[in-house]
Amino acid sequence: MAIVCERFDDLGRDSGAEVRLGIMGGTFDPVHIGHLACAEQARVAYGLDAVVFIPAGTPVFKRGKKVSAASVRLEMCRLATASNPYFDVSSIEIDRGGDTYTVDTLRQLREHYPDNVQFYFITGADAMLSIVKWRESAAIADLAHLIAVTRPGYVMTDEAKSELADHANFDVSYLETTALSVSSSMLREWVAAGKSIRYLTSLAVHDYIAAQGLYASA
Ligand code: NAP
Repeated sequence: MAIVCERFDDLGRDSGAEVRLGIMGGTFDPVHIGHLACAEQARVAYGLDAVVFIPAGTPVFKRGKKVSAASVRLEMCRLATASNPYFDVSSIEIDRGGDTYTVDTLRQLREHYPDNVQFYFITGADAMLSIVKWRESAAIADLAHLIAVTRPGYVMTDEAKSELADHANFDVSYLETTALSVSSSMLREWVAAGKSIRYLTSLAVHDYIAAQGLYASA
């Protein structure tokens, strides 16, 4: 069977007990402390046994926008997650090629892992709000619990929440984290402006961005 995750590929196979796998979906251009903190906070809050970062291969809503090479975003995820024994990285969206659809990713993971592994798809609340427009969103709702990460002051109206609830049987939880006042676009802009992003991502990612000369122009 093809490998889907670098560390937790055999998750759930040693017993039939329920196991929870968090799936961090994002462009991660670059991954930063907001992503890392919210993955860790979600792990504890929802009793996740592992959290896998899956950088989008070709993000469908970013056509026409400048996105760093998939291999670079994958490597930054590897560097950022290496020190957390619960974190993992998967290149399945990159390896699949073509436009990235979350439903394809969840189906691939479902085929790979035994039924006792439950999926918790974690992404930003902004991205999650548009989920009703994603390909086969009802199937996504069947395949995974959804965790929408918000930042303090981010207003998710009851109307928006009920729109999600109306469209399909979405099981969405909301997790507020302060760390998400950092964003990937802010880091890219800061690097281009010559500002320091040290401590806003892991040191290894900071050094990698400098060594590769990433984001030198916004
Ligand atoms: P985005 O528009 O770049 O991100 C929206 C917001 O969510 C940003 O504030 C972003 O902050 C934040 N965010 C992104 N990933 C996050 C994560 N894992 N945890 C916490 N916050 C996160 O969204 P995107 O990165 O392109 O897409 C997010 C996920 O949704 C990806 O897995 C993507 O494949 C999936 N998606 C699927 C479809 C589809 O199947 N049709 C369509 C759209 C998106 P930062 O910029 O700082 O990351």
